[in-house]
Amino acid sequence: TKTFLTGIQTSGEPHIGNYVGAIKPALAAAESSDTLYFLADYHSLNTVKDPDRLRHNIRSVAATWLACGLDPDRTVIYRQSSVPEVFELSVILSSVTGKGLMNRAHAYKAARDRNAEAGSADLDAGVNMGLFNYPLLMAADILVMETDYVPVGRDQAQHLEYAADIAGSFNHLYGASYSFPIPQGVYNEGDAAVLPGTDGRKMSKSYDNTIPLFLPENRLRKLVRRIPTDSTPVEEPKNPDSSVVFQLLTHFEEPARLAETRKRLEAGGMGWGELKDQLFEAINTEVAPMRVRYERLMEPDSELDGILAAGAVRARERSRRVLAKVRRAVGID
Ligand code: ATP
Repeated sequence: TKTFLTGIQTSGEPHIGNYVGAIKPALAAAESSDTLYFLADYHSLNTVKDPDRLRHNIRSVAATWLACGLDPDRTVIYRQSSVPEVFELSVILSSVTGKGLMNRAHAYKAARDRNAEAGSADLDAGVNMGLFNYPLLMAADILVMETDYVPVGRDQAQHLEYAADIAGSFNHLYGASYSFPIPQGVYNEGDAAVLPGTDGRKMSKSYDNTIPLFLPENRLRKLVRRIPTDSTPVEEPKNPDSSVVFQLLTHFEEPARLAETRKRLEAGGMGWGELKDQLFEAINTEVAPMRVRYERLMEPDSELDGILAAGAVRARERSRRVLAKVRRAVGID
């Protein structure tokens, strides 16, 4: 069977954009394949420097995926930091990875471009080695599990090519003894949903315009009510497609009711306030049962830590086996 690996960032509290754009499609795809999920906590260390926040984010992100339906009996969920073989493999891979390849990585180049634009004398200002090595660590995440497929967004395509390149270099040198399967990206083309945030730009933690997925009900209602709208009076016709509230509604409302709402807005007679109440109801109806599970998992002595520990055991059975073959192949056994 083919193995799928999904990396989950632990850099912040999940929002409804993450849910619609990443969590839901990943869980739907996982139903039909052999899937591993890992919480990329050491990747997050590059950006999250507050230990309490990082600790909270790791639990919160794991609890979110479990609450949304990730089944830990059918799939393996583990923390990257629980699998030391990842880091050992990363060192081994660094010996077959050209520095030039890393120099060309998008995230690193983007940081240098920003410094150049700002007129900084040091183009590497603010770049830590974690950012520079990110694609290498990601290759280790993937290869240590002998992954065949990695479902990712288009923005990760280069990282996937790097993982394949690095695997190829290793196989070229040591293939007589051991070869990695060459991993491939799986891209959800075309219909990948992008949800707008409360200010109309892409919903993103960096823009601070998110609707957190598991906001308590009363705070969710308040946040939805605060989404800015224009001042078209209730009775006048409105353009649903220029409204953030309506765009968000399309991801949560049933198709028939949505079509009816569109008609009412276009005809005039439906106000933004009513539309917001409808959006709140639609989100809340979908989210409420998951929120209950999430809150239970977030309690200090919930089964969450046990689930992650069990996942780590299963992940390590696999990574140990792979690393043993790799060490033998390179002559460090
Ligand atoms: P940051 O601002 O730190 O980059 P983010 O809020 O944009 O964070 P990410 O952590 O970059 O979210 O994204 C995690 C996953 O959620 C990715 O697969 C991404 O495609 C998806 N995602 C993020 N924002 C949206 C959005 N507004 N609509 C749909 N999917 C989204």
